[in-house]
Amino acid sequence: PKVDNPYVGAGVYVNPQWSRQAAAESGGSRIANQPTGVWMDRTSAITGNGSPTTGSMGLADHLNEAEKQRAARADGQLVFQVVIYNLPGRDCAALASNGELKADEIGRYKTEYVDKIAEIVARPEYSKLRIVTVVEIDSLPNLVTNVSPRPTATPECDTMKTNGNYIEGVSYALGKLGAVSNVYNYIDAAHHGWIGWGDTNPQYDNFYASAKLFATLLGKNGATKDRIHGFITNTANYSPLEEPFWTVDDNVGGRPVKEASKWVDWNDFNGEVGFATAFRTELVKQGFDSGIGMLIDTSRNGWGGPNRPTAKSTSGDPTTYVNESRIDRRFQKGNWCNQSGAGLGERPKAAPKPGIDAYVWIKPPGESDGSSTLIPNDEGKGFDRMCDPTYGGNIRNGNNMSGALPNAPLSGHWFSAQFQELMRNAYPAL
Ligand code: BGC
Repeated sequence: PKVDNPYVGAGVYVNPQWSRQAAAESGGSRIANQPTGVWMDRTSAITGNGSPTTGSMGLADHLNEAEKQRAARADGQLVFQVVIYNLPGRDCAALASNGELKADEIGRYKTEYVDKIAEIVARPEYSKLRIVTVVEIDSLPNLVTNVSPRPTATPECDTMKTNGNYIEGVSYALGKLGAVSNVYNYIDAAHHGWIGWGDTNPQYDNFYASAKLFATLLGKNGATKDRIHGFITNTANYSPLEEPFWTVDDNVGGRPVKEASKWVDWNDFNGEVGFATAFRTELVKQGFDSGIGMLIDTSRNGWGGPNRPTAKSTSGDPTTYVNESRIDRRFQKGNWCNQSGAGLGERPKAAPKPGIDAYVWIKPPGESDGSSTLIPNDEGKGFDRMCDPTYGGNIRNGNNMSGALPNAPLSGHWFSAQFQELMRNAYPAL
């Protein structure tokens, strides 16, 4: 029997491996007891592979520990957050997290990965846990925004659209895992800076098209609507919850900032709360259950520190007005790798707003998004120049500088300098 919001009246699993790394940092003990996501980022992570990314604990080790944390609580309730992240042809518009499965290895995804995870989470000894799955980060929206005939298309995303294996894989995972009575599936729904554009012209529309694409999952491979508990936005991204000093509907110097500011560039939102709330409504319209809830990843979207504006700009020029008013200090919202100047966001919290089930830290703060130079490895991690601070960008970030921190290790590996900066720029401050 599932509850409406699994986060209400429950604790959330603290990953002892992440916690140890955080606590080993100077000042890290202030957040080392925060709950973070456990990533099954390749098949061997299920049994434990001893890699610098996932450490020695496999899924059952984590669940055993979670069961201990649950039993030690007075309310006897604990959420365990696991990230399902191993699609064939993973990360089709980037290189830093390409993964191990080739574009056509959907069979292996099902039998060696999803089935194994489903078998473990269904064990009776874990039946008292509330198991939240975050399903396949950065996958389905690629099939809207990064495919032909759009100028942002990549051959890899075209392939995944044509072969149907993202839809096949995600629906299979939802069906299999959702069949377990204490599993709560949340599908990744990108963030406002990726799909926040709604338009009647299909050429410019990402918002409605993404909701429609998600709806094609319904009924496939057992992915019925009662097996989809909600969606998560901003996973591993840097988009703030809200911009406190301005809105996309402001007019400055007689011009709407929506059209005049390159930062906004017609996007209907400037933060995740507005986006997640509106996207939830649209998903229900497209056929998802009216009770779905949203999660927002706030692990790195705080944007505090000395460069945070403290008031609305008084400029009469729309570009200057937005740039001086915004707390999101990125060069452009398409920047996703180890963003310089970022800070920890809101601490994980249940039911912060209507329709939002929780603020969560799915991306564990301090774990890199990708290496700033090529580092040979056996983890399927490529080198993406969006992680290189000297890179001038590409069409997907409007040809802006990448904004990435230097000297970053492989994605998933501990990045001490980033962890320290995130703590320094935390908002709310630590
Ligand atoms: C990496 C994963 C890692 C995750 C969490 C991703 O970018 O590809 O290997 O587990 O981040 O840090």
